[in-house]
Amino acid sequence: MVYHKRFLLWWGLSLFLCKLGSRRQLDYQLNTDGPEVLDNLNRLAGTAQQTRPVNQTLEYFLEKIGSDPIAGLRQRMVQRLIRMKALDAARLQGRFLVLIDASGYLVFGSRHCEDCLTQRHGATTLYMHQVLEAKVLGPAGTVVSIATEFIDNRDARDAKAGTSPERIKQDCELKALRRLLARLRAEFPQVRLCLSGDGLYACGEGFQVAKDYKCDYIYTFQPGRLPALWQDFQGLLQLCPDQHREWTTPQGVRQVYRWVKDLCYTDSAGRAWSFGAIACTETDPKGKSTEWSWITSLDVSHETVVAVATTGGRGRWRAENEGFNTQKNSGLNLEHAYSHTCWAAYYFLLQIAHLLLQLVEKGSLLRQLAREQGQRTAVVLFGSLKNMAQRLLESLRYHHWPDEVFDRAQSAGIQIRLDSS
Ligand SMILES: [Zn+2]
Repeated sequence: MVYHKRFLLWWGLSLFLCKLGSRRQLDYQLNTDGPEVLDNLNRLAGTAQQTRPVNQTLEYFLEKIGSDPIAGLRQRMVQRLIRMKALDAARLQGRFLVLIDASGYLVFGSRHCEDCLTQRHGATTLYMHQVLEAKVLGPAGTVVSIATEFIDNRDARDAKAGTSPERIKQDCELKALRRLLARLRAEFPQVRLCLSGDGLYACGEGFQVAKDYKCDYIYTFQPGRLPALWQDFQGLLQLCPDQHREWTTPQGVRQVYRWVKDLCYTDSAGRAWSFGAIACTETDPKGKSTEWSWITSLDVSHETVVAVATTGGRGRWRAENEGFNTQKNSGLNLEHAYSHTCWAAYYFLLQIAHLLLQLVEKGSLLRQLAREQGQRTAVVLFGSLKNMAQRLLESLRYHHWPDEVFDRAQSAGIQIRLDSS
């Protein structure tokens, strides 16, 4: 039996779109009990398969092609979104905000490949794979995976004996960041980007990487990581009391912003850097206050400071909530080892499926449906993201999707809009 690659790709994407949770579930959920599965997927893929594959067929296919073609497909999808300006409403000072974040991803009780990172917990050793992700912040809180770099023990190999685990972790992430941006720039040479990352990137290498790959940046400013620079910052703030703006959010949170424009820093390699720095004190209606600070190459002024801090700095919260958290906890099951050999291919399938799901969840078509039913959003209408995945699975199994939705000419009139409001 020969399966067309487009069919197998949709078969693989269904695993994540319907949030089946494990590869075996393909054999139970997309089997012949669902009379419409084959026909619906055939029309999506433009194929004419007579029978269904089993989950092992997908595994053979991905082992054979590897992860690069799937990553390439993601690249084409993101390029299309950028070209059609679907993400433009979320630009900050003309740049796309790229959230940079690393996460543990696969953990095994025994070594499964020679590149596993190892971590000792008492008597047991865990074998892990980590990933560094770059996600573009889009309108309506969407986050679009644009580049991925896997971190493994090749990044840790050069560490001198006695280096602390925290330091090794930071070095690994910085090395991976350079590879990630080299690849990102090769695939998206012209796009204007601003990196948004945590305090770990606020260092000479973090600034140099941004410069080498023509990116702006907004990094969290942690007093403990750059104590001398922090002192300079506090001193300069005293000297420019006019660089001050207050505002109260619709939720009643009072924010006081202060900033300086040209903070100078010489890194450990003797390179001189100059950038803006922002401090924000936030007081909630109960009187609890929190301090935030960022370093940025973006323009900071009375007009821009709130947007830079809110979108650029706070955007990071969204990476954590909408990115890794959603992928770990909403049924996409990021930390599940879908395969012991071609896990990278499954990783990219998951990213593509998550993008498609967000376009459906946060796009105008379902929002309109929700409003017609008197609900604010599609998630409220269906009760949860999990319920939405279940409806999609039911529909894939039992509902013959209308032919007109596969008609390019007819569907050209339908546009999914991402609304920021
Ligand atoms: Zn491994």
